[in-house]
Amino acid sequence: MKKAEILEWLKTEAPEKLETLWRRSDEVRKANVGDEVHLRGLIEVSNICARDCGYCGIRVGNTDVCRYRMSADEIMESVQLAVQYGYGTVVLQAGEDYGITRDWLTDIISRIKQTADLAITLSLGEREDDELLAWRQAGADRYLLRFETSNRELYDRIHPPLPGRVSDRFQILRRLREIGFEVGSGIMVGIPGQSYDDLANDILLFKEYDIDMIGIGPYIPHPGTPLGMAPDENACPDGEQVPGTELMTCKVVALTRILCPLINIPSTTALATINRVEGREHGLSRGANIVMPNLTPRKYRELYEIYPAKASCDENADESNSRIKNRINAMGRVIGAGRGDSANKLNRVA
Ligand code: SAM
Repeated sequence: MKKAEILEWLKTEAPEKLETLWRRSDEVRKANVGDEVHLRGLIEVSNICARDCGYCGIRVGNTDVCRYRMSADEIMESVQLAVQYGYGTVVLQAGEDYGITRDWLTDIISRIKQTADLAITLSLGEREDDELLAWRQAGADRYLLRFETSNRELYDRIHPPLPGRVSDRFQILRRLREIGFEVGSGIMVGIPGQSYDDLANDILLFKEYDIDMIGIGPYIPHPGTPLGMAPDENACPDGEQVPGTELMTCKVVALTRILCPLINIPSTTALATINRVEGREHGLSRGANIVMPNLTPRKYRELYEIYPAKASCDENADESNSRIKNRINAMGRVIGAGRGDSANKLNRVA
């Protein structure tokens, strides 16, 4: 699919045309990754963050946040829940927390691998090469780092670099691939200042970089952030600004599935947050094949407030697990067995 066609889809409003897009993306999903929905147990290990991202509620500049880092034992308890619920993967996610040291996490990765037959995904921000290597060697399987937007000027505006360091997420994604991680990335849809042209470029880059997993979520304003406080000052001129809607997010999910048939695509929590009734289902029926139920202990959930009113904030792990499984079953889809490795990566290395 060429850029002009992607742009046309992104701007299409006609319901009958969109039905053809949904049908096509669902067929591509079924033919390439099947009906299984793989579950990844999400453990929000720490909300401590060194970065000051303009969009994110746990940015260092938000002094209203009460900070936490889970202990190793707490993490292992959440991992045991993943085993109990039959998940194939745990995702350890955090702010860019340098208190999560190379050796501390290496030890936890080894403990998980010794006690459970689980794939491990890390989502810890922009970390040093020696850390990534150590974690890979200890057994971590996947690394998730969204590039957020391919518009460099917009990226620099919303994601200020740390003093003395350049933030080049594409370079890190290449390095992750080189050292053997299954590589995940993704974007937010509707960032103030993101144009349709930017969004079409993002989708084309998913393909060009041959990413194995792509997370696509709507940008949700957080009042404790510069972007959340002044959206209009940052927006594109009329007619060019991408809306952070459920519909636009679903279009990006569908187009991504058509362009990258073998990859894993989650139906994201952010999508389930902006449409609590059917967001999750819309993602799954328009190209997605992954869901990430939350395993974070209840007492930490609302402290990991990257955006307000996050779905699953008011549940415990048992409730998140059963609600998500019920919804998948009600759609006539199958809960995935095993690790659910990316067919895109398996195909590349075969
Ligand atoms: N620190 C790691 C990183 O930056 O990759 C992982 C944690 S970060 C909170 C995970 C993701 O949350 C980001 O990649 C971003 O896309 C998403 N996120 C943050 N703030 C958001 C917002 N206001 N609306 C939607 N998604 C948001």
